Amino acid sequence: MKCLRCGSEVLSETGNSEIIMKCPKCGWAAVTTYMSEIEEDITHYSIVVERGNSAEKEVIRLISGLSGMNFLETRNLLTNGGTMIVDCATVIKKIATDLDMVGVRYHIEPEFPY
Ligand SMILES: [Zn+2]
Repeated sequence: MKCLRCGSEVLSETGNSEIIMKCPKCGWAAVTTYMSEIEEDITHYSIVVERGNSAEKEVIRLISGLSGMNFLETRNLLTNGGTMIVDCATVIKKIATDLDMVGVRYHIEPEFPY
């Protein structure tokens, strides 16, 4: 893209949720925020924990912190399976990453495309 002030080619940098454009010649700069596909997704997804997960203390503590369930509810969830949390795509993605790290088996409903 070209600078709106002097017509030189601008440099663009991509941040977390914005694109920063700067003109190296005249110093013109602009910031455009954008929404990624996952942030625009208004579907609510459920993380469903499979039954028969190991209910180690560290895992229980982590999941309890993520879901807001108490210790016993969390232990029950890991052993018997069930819905852990229902939330929007960005939150589900973050929690799913944490679950992968501790090796908890789960699936997401409906199909999670990210
Ligand atoms: Zn310029």
